[in-house]
Amino acid sequence: MRDILAPESARWRAFTQVFAEVVESAGYGLIIPPMMEDLGVFTRLGDATDVVTKEMYDFVDKGERHVALRPEQTASVCRAFAQHRPVTPWKAWYSGPNFRYEKPQRGRYRQFDQVGVEVLGVDDPYLDVEVIALGWEFYRRLGLQQVTLLLNSLGEPDDRARYVEALRQHFDAAGDDLSEQSRRTLDKNPLRVLDSKRREDQPIVAAAPTIDQFWSDAAAEHFATVQSGLRELDIAFTVDMKLVRGLDYYRRTTFEFQGGTLDSAQNALGGGGRYDGLVEDLGGPATPGVGFALGVDRTLLACDDEGVFDAPDPAVDAFVVDTTGGAQALAITAALRQAGLRADRAYENRSMKAQMKAANRSGAAYAVIVGTDEVDNGTVAVRPLRGDGEQVTIARDSLITDLHTRLQGSNQ
Ligand code: AMP
Repeated sequence: MRDILAPESARWRAFTQVFAEVVESAGYGLIIPPMMEDLGVFTRLGDATDVVTKEMYDFVDKGERHVALRPEQTASVCRAFAQHRPVTPWKAWYSGPNFRYEKPQRGRYRQFDQVGVEVLGVDDPYLDVEVIALGWEFYRRLGLQQVTLLLNSLGEPDDRARYVEALRQHFDAAGDDLSEQSRRTLDKNPLRVLDSKRREDQPIVAAAPTIDQFWSDAAAEHFATVQSGLRELDIAFTVDMKLVRGLDYYRRTTFEFQGGTLDSAQNALGGGGRYDGLVEDLGGPATPGVGFALGVDRTLLACDDEGVFDAPDPAVDAFVVDTTGGAQALAITAALRQAGLRADRAYENRSMKAQMKAANRSGAAYAVIVGTDEVDNGTVAVRPLRGDGEQVTIARDSLITDLHTRLQGSNQ
């Protein structure tokens, strides 16, 4: 778990802001679910999911409730839907931290942030396209160029069940040729064996049956429409029949956004899909759902690698230097801030030299200087700190207008 300090933290806030703009322009409303839920909310995600079985921060609280810090937010959103029964289609977006007891490394942390969307109550392949397109547009707004989209369909639940059985037989037949790790995975979830990165597993995985042989007509048609919708929007994608993703609740469409600059073990920037059974599992009515979650930490690493989406400039507009004791700086910074300008000041009544040093270090565009002469004459001195403009003395009453004009000029 990490601290995020300024100016990096300002970048995080800007990140969420850009995401909010993209999804709110498509009718999604913010949901703020609690950080902690009854354990049962998450165990519904499936007992073959590492996130649930191995990585959850769960504990018994003082009221003897078995609770867990959320490892993801889709389950919470579905729980909220089952509880509040909002009008459908219900389009929700979220942002915030999740917790998983994973082995920390670059791009993988025990507390990590996600932004995401979920839409409940609509079974329309064009909605899958909308959701994918929102993720795609978000990456475009960040300036990322090396993101690829992988797409698959896990079929209807029956198709998926028949496929899982066929995989089980295929991997069973490989016997000891399969790595010990994958044999263990096989017991719990044959689909996840497809994710194996072990070299000895590769030929066996390559020869495994593919899901398309098991798609029902309806699932195949749904998937074909998703693909044609993406083509219509000029969104490039690769169909990857081995894409199963970590969570067990997906049905039909699944997708993943991968970053081109990251190590393959941590290159998934985000992913999602359809999870038509989850609301029902959580005690609500049978409700189709589709959504995605994008990892903030990892996406920002990709931005670093591609040299895009820099932290916003933290510098203030004006830095007030007051050699008369500090009360002038108090009044002037307050007036500037009320007028919507970003203003800071020096403290502890230091020397002019020390205060100017602080002004330069702050990165401010202008120093506003007040000494005894200025106080006597009702003036202030304004000194540009960037570039080579001259210091001028102006009436104190016109400071705000003067600074506004100067800043507008420098922004043009
Ligand atoms: P998931 O909820 O597992 O489908 O993950 C969606 C996205 O969240 C991933 O593609 C990552 O970008 C991010 N993510 C998941 N787990 C972690 C983690 N432990 N640390 C950082 N990012 C993560």
